[in-house]
Amino acid sequence: MAESQVVISQRGSERLQSGHLWIYRSDIRRADARPGDLVRLTDDRGRFLGRAFYSDRSQIAIRLVTRDDVTVDRAYWTRCIQAAAEYRKRVVRDTDVYRLLFAGSDGVPSLIVDRYGDYLVIQTLSQAAEMRKGEFCEILRELFSPRGIAERNDPKVRLLEGLDQRVSVLAGEIPQEVLARENGMLFAFDLLKGQKTGGFLDQRENRGAARIYASGEVLDCFSYQGGFALSVANAASHVEAIDLSPMAVEAGRRNKERNGISTVTFREANAFDVLKECDEVGRRFDMIILDPPAFAKNRESIPAARRGYKEINLRALKILRSGGYLITCSCSHHISEPLFLQIVAEAANDARRTVVVVERRTQSRDHPIMLTMPETLYIKCFILRVLD
Ligand code: SAH
Repeated sequence: MAESQVVISQRGSERLQSGHLWIYRSDIRRADARPGDLVRLTDDRGRFLGRAFYSDRSQIAIRLVTRDDVTVDRAYWTRCIQAAAEYRKRVVRDTDVYRLLFAGSDGVPSLIVDRYGDYLVIQTLSQAAEMRKGEFCEILRELFSPRGIAERNDPKVRLLEGLDQRVSVLAGEIPQEVLARENGMLFAFDLLKGQKTGGFLDQRENRGAARIYASGEVLDCFSYQGGFALSVANAASHVEAIDLSPMAVEAGRRNKERNGISTVTFREANAFDVLKECDEVGRRFDMIILDPPAFAKNRESIPAARRGYKEINLRALKILRSGGYLITCSCSHHISEPLFLQIVAEAANDARRTVVVVERRTQSRDHPIMLTMPETLYIKCFILRVLD
């Protein structure tokens, strides 16, 4: 059978040349391919550009797999997954919860594999990855012998590919609660019902970094199941952890008990209200952690997101003691690092605080950023110190 072919425009091939891995539908000249095919990519003069995943629905019609004229088969995918796992052995410490494979950043477009101890959770976020789900699972079983593999195919982006929303067990079994270590502490994860694939693995290194600066009274404003709060607990006298979700608060309390920690209080509340109240009653903290959900889900919501980030950062900066630390994060793709820095700077000026940047951080190294694809950098995390 002849190989499926896609011809792209001059603009598309220039985009590939500049290091980008995605080609939009408007740059497709001709497609002799079925949805989800692996295609041979050429420019309009017939020059070979690589092999790629093809989607007939998404605006991202092409996701480049390789620029080389090589066979992309099971052995090829196995090598990619093995290389991804080798890299994690280098960069992941004191943890058996991490992202084993981060899609295009590990050479397998739109496939995510997260490891939670002996269990794996995968996401197949394009037609082509979805079609190869069975094959990917077989390779994962062969390489890692997990006790279970779950799919968390409930992200909204699947709808853009014409794919359904589904959560299921693909192999072995998945217990209701998986216990796994992070930064040397034990956490329980609900792989089928928790947020994302069960936890926010991308913030692991930032949770570890926060420990260095913690002391006295700490406020963790968007705590989920206590990742930051419990991580800094031993260095602080007291930590107050706030989350809007009752499930997250309950999970946080259980994680606290599991680790024999008594100095953290979990409370179900709206962080915006809590920050305002603390300001009004004159409560002060030595560290505040702001790790909200993405306020800007798309371009249209950037102005509202700016206001949201400004508000929480302004209030937090007002109620920090001199010498205190603000750990402030944004996981919105649409808010760039310079913009986020500017928002926080405006907040500091309005709060009349003098602030130094102690660390400019990003997502953990198991979520690699592509040098030539700025959109793969999505977490901004600044550690700031308030001088006076
Ligand atoms: N810091 C966490 C991840 C936070 S994700 C960690 O390291 O694991 C964002 C969290 O904010 C979610 O748990 C969500 O339930 C919570 N949330 C969303 N809006 C909120 C609000 N207005 N007030 C408090 N929590 C909120």
